[in-house]
Amino acid sequence: MAYKIEEGCISCGTCAGTCPVEAISEGDGKYEINPDVCVECGACAGNCPVGAIVAP
Ligand code: SF4
Ligand code: SF4
Repeated sequence: MAYKIEEGCISCGTCAGTCPVEAISEGDGKYEINPDVCVECGACAGNCPVGAIVAP
């Protein structure tokens, strides 16, 4: 399991800049986390301004 970005994402890009393993990229209408790369550090969730990133 990995952290997940929900529909509330406003595509600000903040999370992608905070991920230490570059698991986050811009997807179709929102940002997405690659579950094969995410190491579940939680840094992204703590920095999302709209709380769109949820823990596994
Ligand atoms: Fe990246 Fe950590 Fe967020 Fe996973 S939990 S996407 S490793 S910042
Ligand atoms: Fe979307 Fe939150 Fe990431 Fe911004 S920080 S791109 S709103 S998931």
